[in-house]
Amino acid sequence: MTNQASQATKSSQATKASQPAKATTPPLWLLAELTYQCPLHCPYCSNPVNMEETFNELSTSQWKKVFREAREMGAVQLGFSGGEPLLRKDLEELVAYARELGFYTNLITSGIGMTEKRIAKLKDAGLDHIQLSFQSANAEVNDLIGNKRHSFKQKLNIAKLVKAYNYPMVLNFCITAQNIHEIEEVMALSTELKADFVELATVQYYGWAYENREHLLPTKNQLEEAEQAVNRYRDQQDGVGPKFMFVTPDYYENRPKACMNGWGTTFLTVTPDGSALPCHSAKILPLTFPNVKDSSVQNIWEHDFSFNHFRGDDWMPSLCKTCDEKDKDFGGCRCQAFLLTGDMHKTDPVCDKSPDHHLMKTITDKAGQQTSSTLKFRTVKNNIPVKTIQDLTV
Ligand code: SF4
Ligand code: SF4
Repeated sequence: MTNQASQATKSSQATKASQPAKATTPPLWLLAELTYQCPLHCPYCSNPVNMEETFNELSTSQWKKVFREAREMGAVQLGFSGGEPLLRKDLEELVAYARELGFYTNLITSGIGMTEKRIAKLKDAGLDHIQLSFQSANAEVNDLIGNKRHSFKQKLNIAKLVKAYNYPMVLNFCITAQNIHEIEEVMALSTELKADFVELATVQYYGWAYENREHLLPTKNQLEEAEQAVNRYRDQQDGVGPKFMFVTPDYYENRPKACMNGWGTTFLTVTPDGSALPCHSAKILPLTFPNVKDSSVQNIWEHDFSFNHFRGDDWMPSLCKTCDEKDKDFGGCRCQAFLLTGDMHKTDPVCDKSPDHHLMKTITDKAGQQTSSTLKFRTVKNNIPVKTIQDLTV
């Protein structure tokens, strides 16, 4: 949908629900997207395709205000994310402040830009946990997907430093059609690196991943084989080594995910420019979201229209409202409903009770048969730049 069309549907969609429900819980998990700048260019990045706010980032003191206000409301966990959060020179200062407030802190990083000096400084600042992403277990594929030479080698070095400095280490491998065949190598590498937890996360189709879906979506058969390989590996681990979490895309399921544990119940994302969102993809929706520069976190969480809009069940189509499973999945993902049907109030098409469920079959039937050779690599420019995979030299 174009921006114009999206604006045109904004008022009609946003007024469908009668009296939106109110917040009943505080935000427990704060995701601070410090910057959308990133040295890598992953074509599955969940960052917005249009990152116009990239150069208008919150200042150190504005971030501190957000942390303070969220903590006062009861938030306990703070994820530093991006883009690449290491590009913020004030990262150590922000981590130290967050720890002082009592947050459990987690750095979500590609590892590019990390040095031993910085990892030591982050330790001194009190950072609790590091989640390091890899694009592949194969150096060439890794560097190709991230579109950066020698990034695999750097990631290996950082993984060793993470262990040397006694951080709990979570590795994240984004699984796509390009690397799903190497799942056994991924698990062997994770074991060698002594990871504590490993997310084998098949990409969710938002942001750049939505743009590139026809290239990235594995077939059902590939997913089943990968899952069997993970189960075999777990069986032979005998309780020793990393804990593997295999996350499949819900495109092949009959029920949607309980997105964000319910809209505006648990998660709060703040983008680099200060937009406050109930989920990190929500900015694509035809709703106006508040900014932490203009309002307190409490005021936003409790009173903003966009946060109240999908709380409770007043907004639901009758299919979901009368469904005895509505407390399990809350009608599914609002961003997915909007991306696939153009209407954010519809039942998530993943649900096989939805009249739009046929859309999922149309999409999944095409997995593994991409018709174009063009993969769009993520950049920070406003327009979507296009490079062909053949153009890349790794
Ligand atoms: S997914 Fe890739 S491009 Fe996006 S923020 Fe992470 S490392 Fe950077
Ligand atoms: S109809 Fe709605 S509430 Fe019921 S299972 Fe499907 S998505 Fe969930």
